[in-house]
Amino acid sequence: MPVEVEYEEKKFTMVVYRISETEFSVLSLNSTFGRPKQYVVKWVGYKWICSCPDYAKHSEEMHYACKHIEAMFKAVKKIGWSKDGIEVEVVRGYKQFNGNGGSVEAVEGGVAPADVTE
Ligand SMILES: [Zn+2]
Repeated sequence: MPVEVEYEEKKFTMVVYRISETEFSVLSLNSTFGRPKQYVVKWVGYKWICSCPDYAKHSEEMHYACKHIEAMFKAVKKIGWSKDGIEVEVVRGYKQFNGNGGSVEAVEGGVAPADVTE
């Protein structure tokens, strides 16, 4: 039985501050929880990790970047390693299963997969 899948784009506004050499504070102004949430993005010697639940779910993936890590990279690209805070926007694609608002899953990089499993 085919499952109807809709894709939805969501824009997240985040304020990125550099705390130290290897640590960033990322304040998500419109998080999926509906209120601002603050997370810490940290370099652990071989990769960037984040304190959010989304990252925790994917922590075994070597190169997983949650939207906060993505925001941090965007911020660094714009202002370098300056300690000034900067507001950045990250757009993510979400897979929404029709008729079931409960299962929303992030699609990495905002790209929808071409094939839908039956
Ligand atoms: Zn995160």
